[in-house]
Parts: sequence; C-alpha cells; structure tokens
Amino acid sequence: MPGNDGCGAIASGRLEPPADTRNAIKWHGRQSGLSIQRNPLALPRAYPGLADAMLCGSGIAQKGTTAMTGQQAAHYEGTEPFLDGGTPSRTVANAVQVVVTLAIVTVPFAGLGVAVWLAWGHGLGLADVLLAVAFYLVTGLGVTVGFHRLLTHRSFTAAPALRAALAIVGSMSFEGDVIGWVAIHRRHHAFTDRPGDPHSPYRYGTHLPGQLRGLAHAHVGWLLRDDPTPAARYAPDMTEDPAMRAISAAFPVLCAVSLGLPFGLGWVIGGSWHGALTALLWAGLVRVTVLQHVTWSVNSLCHVIGARPFTTRRYDRATNLWPLALLSLGESWHNMHHSDPACARHGADPGQVDVSAAVIRVFERLGWATGVHWPVPARLEGRRRGQGQAQSRPALHDGRPSAGPATATSTPS
Ligand SMILES: [Zn+2]
Ligand SMILES: [Zn+2]
Repeated sequence: MPGNDGCGAIASGRLEPPADTRNAIKWHGRQSGLSIQRNPLALPRAYPGLADAMLCGSGIAQKGTTAMTGQQAAHYEGTEPFLDGGTPSRTVANAVQVVVTLAIVTVPFAGLGVAVWLAWGHGLGLADVLLAVAFYLVTGLGVTVGFHRLLTHRSFTAAPALRAALAIVGSMSFEGDVIGWVAIHRRHHAFTDRPGDPHSPYRYGTHLPGQLRGLAHAHVGWLLRDDPTPAARYAPDMTEDPAMRAISAAFPVLCAVSLGLPFGLGWVIGGSWHGALTALLWAGLVRVTVLQHVTWSVNSLCHVIGARPFTTRRYDRATNLWPLALLSLGESWHNMHHSDPACARHGADPGQVDVSAAVIRVFERLGWATGVHWPVPARLEGRRRGQGQAQSRPALHDGRPSAGPATATSTPS
C-alpha cells in the first residue's frame, strides 16, 4: 500500500511491509548494538502483522521506513525482477560465512553419498532406519511445531519447558539458530513474493529463465547472499527472552549433539564402531539432508507449484503441494498457512495430513499447550476462492496473481 507507514496498516487490517530492510539494519545496528542475524539456514515460512506491530511498538518503524525495499515493494507489479540489491559483499568475513554455509549444505550431501555406498549390501540396518526416522521426527517437529507455529506465529501457548524443548530440538535440525530462523520467517511473511522477501522464487521475474533462477535462489541460493535480517527488528520478543537467547547461542553445540547422539546410540545398540558410523550417517547426516531439503522445498516449490484454494495477500503465491505433506509434517499446505498464518493447523481440509497439528493436539490434551488457534469453519470458508479460482496456477503462466483480502491478524476465538 503506497505511502503506508505500517502502523496505520495494522489498524486497518491491511498490512504492508513497513520499511527497507537494509537501511533498517544499518540504522539499527548502529543505534542499538543488538545482534543482527545473518542468513541462518532457515526454511523458512508468519504472522504478517507481528513484525509490523512490533516495529510500531518499538518506534523503530518510524526511523526505518524511508528506504529502498519498502518503496520497491509498494511499486511492485507482480512480474518484474526484484531490484532490492543483495549484491554479495566482498569482505573476508562474508567470504568465510559463505564457505561455512556451503560446507553446512554440502557436507550432509556428501554424507548421503557415503551412506548409500555403505548401505550397498551391509551398511544399513534396522537400528539405523529407526534412529533416522526418530531423529527426523523429533528435530522436524522442533522446526514445524516449535520454530514455526509456536515461536514465529504464536499459534498456541506452550508451557515453558515445552517451549524450550521445542526450541532445542528444532536447533538440532541444522537450519540456523532459533532467533535468526524466526526473524527471517517473519520477514518472509511481511514481504511475501515481493522485494524484501529473503527467499522468493519470483526474485528474478516470472519469465522462464527468471523463474528457474528464482527457484534455485528460493531453495538454497538465498543462504549464500549477504542479506541479513535484524532480529531486533523482526523478533524482539525472542531477543528479550533469556531462554531463547541461550538456546540460540548454543546452536553450534546443539548441532554437534545432533550428530553425536546418533553416533553414541549406534555404538550402544550395535556395540561396534561400524554401528556407530552407520547410525551417524543415516540418523545424522542423511536425516539432516532430507529435512533441510524438505524445508527448503516449502520455500521454493510451495510458492510455485500446486493449488491455491485460499486467498492470500496481493502477490503472495503460496501453494498447497500435497506430495510433500507427509515429509514436511504438514508444512506443505502452505497456501492455507499464508492465508491464515496464526492457525495451528495448516492442512485444514478433509484428508489433508498434518502431523504437526496432530502433535499440537496431543500437547493440548496433555495440558502442555493452551490457547491453540484451531481453524474456524466459517473463517476458513470466508477465505476460500470461488469456483474456477481454486486451480493450480503455475507462476510461469500466471505472472499476475489476483489480489486477495489482507491476512487477518486476529485469531479464532
Ligand atoms: Zn509461516
Ligand atoms: Zn512461504
């Protein structure tokens, strides 16, 4: 909404990104000295009003609403490449960051190759499979239930111990520290598929070459860019929480634990170095690889391929992609999620498997989760597109998504 400063948008229920990210980072970094998160390996997915509301409350928005990205987002027409810079920096520190990120992304893949080679005949046992599934589920739910639905979107309130536990196991997924993950994902929702979105597949336009390049960018390329997301701006609630700060700082240790535990359990179960190493490969590196790419597929594929049965904000092209539903633990019902970000269930229609929602239901019955924002049927129907609009609309052939109503920031009662 051109000319909107963000605060008024909240009051009106129509939300627009309030500010330019880069200038806000520079300004706020100088003023506060608070930590600035740079590209954690987030899969990122928000509650569009939250960052805006926090910005207005903090007074930061007024200082940072002058710049480039906000203006470009306001003038974006849905087909052109983003012009919000993002030129990779040439500094040594950023070069090191790129090398470390590349290592985090490629080493698990190398592990996958070694694992397959080892498995040829004798390198894969039942214990490896069971450990891999268990670690995938626990760390994956840490991301989907913890990082995403609880901490980013506040879809429910968790008991302090559960909140911390989810943040810890989510950190073991090698997708970045929890505070950085939340900040990036809120930014994704604030600028979805417009200039300012950290990982939109439409960054390079909607023509075929641009779309293919955009898919690569949205999947993993964005991790290598010098495009920091300031936690103080997008996740002040997280930076003010001592437990979250401690868990965020412990991210490297938790990554080591995430690999060390399968190794140790493999050794205990198998009673040999061979058992320890195969468990490390399958329940460690392979599990990390699969979860990372499933997560990243939600960023890339789930904004390009699939159905859009629900209305979303203008230019937001999030889709529902059923083949990923099980592996993503319900996160690939991404169109529904972008339509109603605070809803605890993303697979809201009959037959849509949403393991994360089922787990939240269990937590609720145990009394560990309260205030769960379950779908409200009337609200759901109000967001459904009319007949003839619910078709899958590949962006390659549809550069101008129809405008939908603003995403409501209220939650079902
Ligand atoms: Zn989200
Ligand atoms: Zn998304």
